[in-house]
Amino acid sequence: MKKIIAVTTGGTIAMKLDPKTGGLVPAVSGEDLLAAVPALQSVAKIEVVEESNVPSGHITPQMMFDLAKTIDKLAQRPDVDGFVVTHGTDTLEETAYMLDMTLNTEKPVCVTGAMRGASDTSWDGPGNILAAVKTAASDDAVGQGVLVVLNDVIHAAREVTKTHSVNTDTFQSPWWGPIGHVYFDRVVFKRKSVSRQKIQPNELVPDVYLIKSVAGMDDFLFKCLIEKGVSGIVVEAFGCGNVPLGVRKGIFEARSAGIPVVLATRVFAGRVARVYSYMGSAGEMYSHGIILAEELSGQKARLKLMLALGITKDNEKLREIFQQ
Ligand code: ASP
Repeated sequence: MKKIIAVTTGGTIAMKLDPKTGGLVPAVSGEDLLAAVPALQSVAKIEVVEESNVPSGHITPQMMFDLAKTIDKLAQRPDVDGFVVTHGTDTLEETAYMLDMTLNTEKPVCVTGAMRGASDTSWDGPGNILAAVKTAASDDAVGQGVLVVLNDVIHAAREVTKTHSVNTDTFQSPWWGPIGHVYFDRVVFKRKSVSRQKIQPNELVPDVYLIKSVAGMDDFLFKCLIEKGVSGIVVEAFGCGNVPLGVRKGIFEARSAGIPVVLATRVFAGRVARVYSYMGSAGEMYSHGIILAEELSGQKARLKLMLALGITKDNEKLREIFQQ
C-alpha cells in the first residue's frame, strides 16, 4: 500500500460554525481532518503534517513558496509516494500553480479543499480528500505536475480556476477542460498537461502588483506603483490584450521607470494575442517591451513574475521565461 502525506494548511475544509459569531472559523486539526475519512484506510497509508490552519486568504506567496520546500524535503523520503495538500479554495489555484512551478519532486501532489465546512450536513471535505488521496496514490499521476482534485474531477494546476463563490462544482479549467476524473475506485486520466514550466529561484520577489483594466481607466494606480518603486506590474487587459489609453500611458510610464510589465487578459478563457496593432493593443504593447502572459490569469501571471524576477531582472530574459 502506498504512503501519502497529507499536508494541511486550513480553509473551509477545516472550519466549523462558531455559534458566537454565526460564521465558519478554523476549528479542525490536520489529524482530525484526515481521521474524518475512514475510507482512506483501504486506499493508502496516511501521515499528516500540519503546515498551518488558516483561511486561504491569509496565505501569502512566501507561504506557498515555503510549502514547496516542505514538500520537497518530505519527498526525499523513500517511503513516501505522494502528497495531498488541503487548502482553502479562495487561493487554492495560486498555491497549486506556485507548487507546480517550484517543486523538484515528480511524486504526485494533489491539492484539494471544500466549499462547505465540517459542521455542515453536506460537508464536501471527506469526499474530496478521498478522491485526492486516490489520485495521489495512482501510478498514472506520477509526473503529471501538481493536480487540483475536487468534486471527483482532476485539473492541471496551471489551467484551473475557481468559478463560483459557493457552489461545490466550482473548479474548472477554461478552454482546456479537466485532465481526468475519479470514478469510485478508478482514477482515469484522459490527457496530459504538456505545458509545465519550472521556475526555481532561491527567493521570490514579493512586490509585484496586479492591476485590472476597466473602461475609461487612467494611469493613477501606475503612478502610485512607480512612486513606490515596485519590482513588477501585471495588468489584466481587455480581450486578447488591449488596454484603455490611460492604462497604456501608465504602462509606458512604468516601462520608462524600468519596471517590467506583464500583460494578461481579464477574460475567463483564451490568451493574450497580437491580433491588433492600434494604440493600447497587445501588438503595440509587445513592440514596446511589454511581456505577454500567454494563457495565464492575472493572479497566476503575478506569481510567475515573482519567481521569474528571482532569476533575472532583465526584461528580455523575463520575456523569454513567459514565452516558453
Ligand atoms: N474562505 C475559504 C478559504 O479559502 C473558502 C474555502 O476554503 O472554500 O479559506
